[in-house]
Amino acid sequence: MKERMAIILVKPVIAIVGRPNVGKSTIFNRIVGERISIVEDIPGVTRDRIYSSGEWLTHDFNVIDTGGIDIGDEPFLEQIRQQAEVAIDEADVIIFLTNGREGVTAADEEVAKILYKSKKPIVLGVNKIDNPEMREQIYDFYSLGFGEPIPVSGSHGLGLGDLLDEAAKYFPKNKQQDYEEDVIKFSLIGRPNVGKSSLVNAILGEDRVIVSNIAGTTRDAVDSPYTYNGQKYVIIDTAGMRKKGKVYESTEKYSVLRALRAIERSDVVLVVINAEEGIIEQDKKIAGYAHEAGRAVVIVVNKWDAIEKDEKTMNELEQKIREHFLFLSYAPIVFLSAKTKKRIHTLLPMINVASENHAMRVETSVLNDIIMDAVAMNPTPTDKGRRLKIYYATQVAIKPPTFVVFVNEPELLHFSYERFLENRIRDSFGFEGTPIKIFARERK
Ligand code: GDP
Ligand code: GDP
Repeated sequence: MKERMAIILVKPVIAIVGRPNVGKSTIFNRIVGERISIVEDIPGVTRDRIYSSGEWLTHDFNVIDTGGIDIGDEPFLEQIRQQAEVAIDEADVIIFLTNGREGVTAADEEVAKILYKSKKPIVLGVNKIDNPEMREQIYDFYSLGFGEPIPVSGSHGLGLGDLLDEAAKYFPKNKQQDYEEDVIKFSLIGRPNVGKSSLVNAILGEDRVIVSNIAGTTRDAVDSPYTYNGQKYVIIDTAGMRKKGKVYESTEKYSVLRALRAIERSDVVLVVINAEEGIIEQDKKIAGYAHEAGRAVVIVVNKWDAIEKDEKTMNELEQKIREHFLFLSYAPIVFLSAKTKKRIHTLLPMINVASENHAMRVETSVLNDIIMDAVAMNPTPTDKGRRLKIYYATQVAIKPPTFVVFVNEPELLHFSYERFLENRIRDSFGFEGTPIKIFARERK
């Protein structure tokens, strides 16, 4: 039997590189626009504006502002070098940004030297060319050896189209993954030392796990495919799991970035926390990304062997986790130990449940019965004398399950009523482990 292939397009990545103050974050913000994230409304979860998606004409892509990657106390040149290396590692095309008001500087030349050595396509942008009279200042920049410099103005929003046109020329055609549709792809995210690598080893070392060694050119070399009880899985590698010790571990934002890239490729994200240390801000932040990206989530509390416990410990910790991860109320929590392997066998079944629910399709008639019952139980809200009318609902997508509710006026579906509908849908269908999305659309 021929396997059906899931065509998952992976967005091309643009990285913006350049010395400080040339305008990288200004250009970044222009490119990604104002994307308001739901997670930002949750106290304590703030978005790092270093990685976001953008669109230009028919292209969808992700952008990294390498200037936002804080390298710590390293000397200036070392910071730029490391940021450029991140760009070389992560991007399909690099925008090398300079400042047209200052001309070519020694630091620009340093960046250029590092970029020469990479095989990545480079697009040279000269920023702060705020009016046409200033255009002749770009000629200087030919000397950097990256071809035609493109004048832009981040503050005035000029020339960005030309810059993105040039970058888009280098986007890889059909950048995609070729894992079969029935493979569950998951990743483990969490700060250094929570036990991610140990967990991967513990999973792969389980009885009945068959580790495949398929050498495929389009497969990511660090993904680990395996089979357990007839179910195929791929573990998507994350921050610091392979490249320990380098920049990768030492800079928080870079590991966040790697985690984001892994989340993007996963169906299920395991948010790993350390039972001994509890939850810190960074855990929330990363879990917030998984939620926002619409991935299924399982919370894994590792190092369960290392704490003293009585019969109340698990409930207490669960409560604490629920308080911290309010937005992950749907995520199951698994307590285990990668070291002693205690309860490790509970993990894969949970991943299966989360993955199944993430891909679940419900029947339209059943869905509508539930919505109508919900409306009967709790009348729709009114605003300025107008009442929300719900005509019908339908599921329009999976991964995550996404519902469209057709109504008289979408603005009348307030957050709290949407939450109520979500809860009713969850009460009826479960959806443990997966976020669900609800959109209101006006019935024409
Ligand atoms: P980064 O350090 O490379 O990320 O640079 P920023 O984006 O923080 O910008 C540095 C400074 O340059 C800020 O004061 C910006 O307002 C200013 N700036 C950015 N783009 C332009 C531009 O196109 N024209 C002018 N005149 N100033 C700009
Ligand atoms: P990573 O950085 O998240 O990949 O974490 P590692 O897998 O490298 O583990 C970090 C440290 O925690 C190592 O010293 C592990 O031996 C230890 N460790 C991992 N899992 C457990 C566990 O379940 N119990 C205990 N007591 N130690 C663990």
